[in-house]
Amino acid sequence: MRVTFLGTGTSMGVPVAGGFGASSVSRDPRDTRTRCSLWVKTEQASILVDAGPEFRLQTLASGLSSIDALLLTHEHMDHVTGIDDLRSFNYDSGSSIACYSSARILDSIQHRFDYLFGSDRYPGSTHLECIPVEKTFDVHDTVVTPIPILHGGLPILGYRVNDLVYLTDISDLPDSSRHLVEGAKVLVLGALRWGDGHPSHLTVEQAVELVESLDVPETYFIHMNGSVDTQKSHDSLPESIRLAHDQQVLWI
Ligand SMILES: [Zn+2]
Ligand SMILES: [Zn+2]
Repeated sequence: MRVTFLGTGTSMGVPVAGGFGASSVSRDPRDTRTRCSLWVKTEQASILVDAGPEFRLQTLASGLSSIDALLLTHEHMDHVTGIDDLRSFNYDSGSSIACYSSARILDSIQHRFDYLFGSDRYPGSTHLECIPVEKTFDVHDTVVTPIPILHGGLPILGYRVNDLVYLTDISDLPDSSRHLVEGAKVLVLGALRWGDGHPSHLTVEQAVELVESLDVPETYFIHMNGSVDTQKSHDSLPESIRLAHDQQVLWI
């Protein structure tokens, strides 16, 4: 299957509007990061994980033209703002897009985007079919497993899609979820910044420690802020851990 990193940046993107942190932003194109989202394309399925503020631009850059399933990790705006732009994917057909997440997260989405749901749904708007999930399910030829993780005090979801595990906005992988990661070929893991700890995200050092405790041969970090320089990080990280960059493609 083909995996495209649509976006790899932290919640404010990199560089940040207004110049915050500008002194530390590198000129390496890999260090310009839109908000996190992932596209998985298999023979039969096109699966989108999250849809952030740059969803439209990410879609045009990547060639994403159909969506069989939307997997939502959590309700924070850097991961869901693009839901409104999904309307162009069901505008002509009127069909709905299957949207999977936990019941709590889907409830939050239905409140936040209330105009997309109910009998008086705004004409022409995104049409989602919300499907709460706790266990493994199939999207055509693809096996998807929700993975409960913690984002500070917030219980959110990562996903395993065949042999890929995607854990963004993570501060802790509970022991009860570790078996869902084991045996995967590729891990995509949130790592906010080097150094100072954060209440709801792993630092790069903490992410490396987590990787080393898991049996996954290849890891890509995402959700980095502007202080995480790709080249400098690659010089010091183990070779099995790389920073992902926007529009990077993997074949798994
Ligand atoms: Zn985020
Ligand atoms: Zn978040």
